[in-house]
Parts: sequence; C-alpha cells; structure tokens
Amino acid sequence: MATGDEPLHFRVLGTFEVTRGARRCTPTAQKQRALLALLALHANEFVPTSRIVDQLWARAAPRSAVAALHGYVTAVRRVLTPGFSSGRASHPVLSTRPSGYVLHLEPHQLDLTRFRQLARHGQAAVAAGDCARAREIFTSALALWRGSPLADLRETGLFDHDISRLEKEYLALLRDRFDVVLCRGDGHLAVCDLEELCGTHPLWERFHEQLMLALCQAERRADALAAYARAYRALSSHAGIEPGPRLRALHQAVLNGDDPFVTGHRHDRALSASRMEPTAFP
Ligand SMILES: [Zn+2]
Repeated sequence: MATGDEPLHFRVLGTFEVTRGARRCTPTAQKQRALLALLALHANEFVPTSRIVDQLWARAAPRSAVAALHGYVTAVRRVLTPGFSSGRASHPVLSTRPSGYVLHLEPHQLDLTRFRQLARHGQAAVAAGDCARAREIFTSALALWRGSPLADLRETGLFDHDISRLEKEYLALLRDRFDVVLCRGDGHLAVCDLEELCGTHPLWERFHEQLMLALCQAERRADALAAYARAYRALSSHAGIEPGPRLRALHQAVLNGDDPFVTGHRHDRALSASRMEPTAFP
C-alpha cells in the first residue's frame, strides 16, 4: 500500500519525470503533466491560476479552463499522494493559495534545484581559486542532464520560453566548466567538444575564445588562427557583427606569439565573465 511517506522526485532536465519511491508516476495525460512541470519549474513559488491557465492553454483558454484546472489539480494530487482525499483541507506537496498554487519541494527532490546549487558551488570554488574542485562540481552538475529539457513536452510549444532558458543555463555551465579545464591546462581534452559547440552555437563568442585557447594549449596555434577565421565568418554571416574585443585581442596575441592567456580565464575574472552574455542564443 502506497503512502505519502515515499519520497517524490521531479526531473525536468530531460524527459519530464515524477517518481514516488522507486516507481515512476508521471501523469500520462498531457495537461496534467504540463501542470506539474510548470509548477516544478517554479517550485516553492506562488504560481497564480491566471498564469497557469495562460501557459497551459497557450493564451487561448476556453471559459471552462479554470474548472478543468481544478480537475487536473485533484488528479495530480492523487498521483503524488495516493491516500489523499480531496475532502482534506491541504495537500502536503501541492497546496492551494488564494488564486494560485505552490508545489513544495526540498532541493534534493528536483534536479533543476540541485543543478543550480551545484552551479553556484562551482562558481564559488572558482572564485576561491580552487578550479580543480570546481571542475568536479561542474561535472556533477552536467551529469544531472538526461537530454533536452522537458523533451516530452517540447512539441506542445507551451514551454518554449522555459526550455530556451534551461538550455542557456546548460550552455553557461558548459562554458564555466571549459574555463576551469583551460585553467588547469587541459585544453587538449576540450578541443573536440568546443569545435562542436562553436558549430551548433556560433553566436556564443566565449566558445570560440575557449576553442582558440584550447588549441593553443594543444600546441596548435595555426589551428587556433583558423578557428578565429571560422568565428569571424560565423559571426558576420549569422549576426552581421565582427568579433568582440576579447576575441580580437586573443587573435592578436596568437599572431604575435604572446601568452594567449592574457585574455583567458583568471580566477577573479571567471565569475564576472559568466554573468555577461554577450550574444543572442541562436
Ligand atoms: Zn581558475
């Protein structure tokens, strides 16, 4: 007999999944799944009913939407807590507030919270100058990803904004991890991954910069210059812009045979760089 004591876990960094104990209990009905995913993305926050209705019905809600939403809430509460009776005043996980809902989750119950915690811990380790530790932490954070975020809800189009934001967080953490790999002098290990990322995300200038640094560390300065030429073409053809000052300075350093790390990762620069997103996500 299932009880409310079995631990619930929510996962959004891949296909949306809810597990209770060892068992999957993700709702199969799409609107119920979307409702839980939306609340999980805003765990422990008040989410107004109007916002839920807007998102679940893509701003084209019928009059019956609020009543339907109440039905979905009842259904997912039963999924989350099998013994729950709708006659009870409050639900332990999904609580009703005046004109809205809150999904209460401890950090370990949601992969996204854990990912963000690890990202912060990794950045703190960088700030403290411990890039070896930061590398381990960032690697653990990336391991939480099982594929495209909310992959099973992507085609509904209801989560485009959330998915795009999560993908940016993923790329930002990848970028932070490459910084510490380069800081440790292991650029040769990152060349292939960076080449691929420069192709798939040509407007993220930092990936081009990191690829040039990685190639320099691998004693491939000519390839670093070729990477700059590709970055130049990509930026001009995709966005009509030229490389920014950091990338240009790095190019000049490679041409001059100077220490290319003059523009690269420094412990005190890593954090400020990670907060600035210079170009649009393609
Ligand atoms: Zn460092």
